[in-house]
Amino acid sequence: LKPPVKILVTGAAGQIGYAIMPMIARGKMLGPDQPVIIHMLDIPSASEASGGLKMELIDSALPLLRGVVATTDVAQACKDVNFVVMLAGFPRKEGMERKELLSKNVAIYKAQASALEQHAAPNCKILVVANPANTNALILKEFAPSIPPKNITCLTRLDHNRALGQLSERLNVHVGDVKNVIIWGNHSSTQYPDANHAIVKTEFGEKSAKELVANDTWLKGEFISTVQQRGAAIIKARKQSSSLSAASAACDHMHDWILGTPKGTWVSMGVYSDGAYGIPAGIIYSFPVTCNKGEWSIVQGLKIDEFSRAKMEATANELVEEKNLAYSCLN
Ligand code: NDP
Repeated sequence: LKPPVKILVTGAAGQIGYAIMPMIARGKMLGPDQPVIIHMLDIPSASEASGGLKMELIDSALPLLRGVVATTDVAQACKDVNFVVMLAGFPRKEGMERKELLSKNVAIYKAQASALEQHAAPNCKILVVANPANTNALILKEFAPSIPPKNITCLTRLDHNRALGQLSERLNVHVGDVKNVIIWGNHSSTQYPDANHAIVKTEFGEKSAKELVANDTWLKGEFISTVQQRGAAIIKARKQSSSLSAASAACDHMHDWILGTPKGTWVSMGVYSDGAYGIPAGIIYSFPVTCNKGEWSIVQGLKIDEFSRAKMEATANELVEEKNLAYSCLN
């Protein structure tokens, strides 16, 4: 076994927190040979619930779990952490304006950025899940200048996995045999799920998903809207938002980032844009990436048709607008 690493989960007492803890402590995130010490951070009103979750983790007798710290103290929570999963966010309440929600979250992410910068281990790697995930991650980057921008990412893997799921259902193939869909842009309803480059493993070798589906109307219509609206469909059915699939996707994101993507496979991650594919630099945008030795790289040179270009630009425009709104909340 490797020496233990420390993982901070913020908003740990929430729904996704409850689902993700056993996954982390069973090695689904960092591998079955990686012992972990989990730091759980939450606000005082949730501290009793985090204490209960800590008891449950102890009672699960998990061999990889080498310690649990449940705290409301941000500095203690951030102390020497190697990995961070940020679930804490102000919930969107009915009638709340977008700017109001953004301003609450900007304040949270600004404060946590300083604490991480001061107390986290050097080279700590961060995944932001709480919404608006891309913009929260951007605020974190802005207020933690000593953390390399490459170490700050946001979750679009759930959307990516949803897109794989839709193709697998449509083609009646195992989801493990479908790869290389792309989620471009914002983790919001403007995201662009793109199946143009997706591949399906068949008994006759690898085939283009687009050719197998052979239905452009579905690929440009229902496929995209189903992935975009999946979160809302789950809320309607469960009367609460997705938590198991969000937790599972957060594990997939960290797992592939740290341990690498298989050869010939890419995944979607919200990362700091360097201007690739003509997307404005300086926003956190979801791109197709491959990962090796803990570093992600944007997949280069994919052919982009006119339909895709328009969708990629629309979601980029929304992110630029969100960025401007977030900055106006800071002033
Ligand atoms: P969840 O655990 O269900 O969700 C956590 C965050 O993830 C939410 O912001 C949610 O945004 C977001 N999210 C992103 N993608 C998804 C997805 N696909 N499905 C579901 N959620 C997604 O929220 P809870 O309210 O149960 O828990 C939040 C925790 O944060 C609580 O423990 C609370 O105490 C804590 N908190 C901390 C604050 C602070 O640190 N200052 C402030 C407020 C809360 P959305 O629901 O908008 O999709």
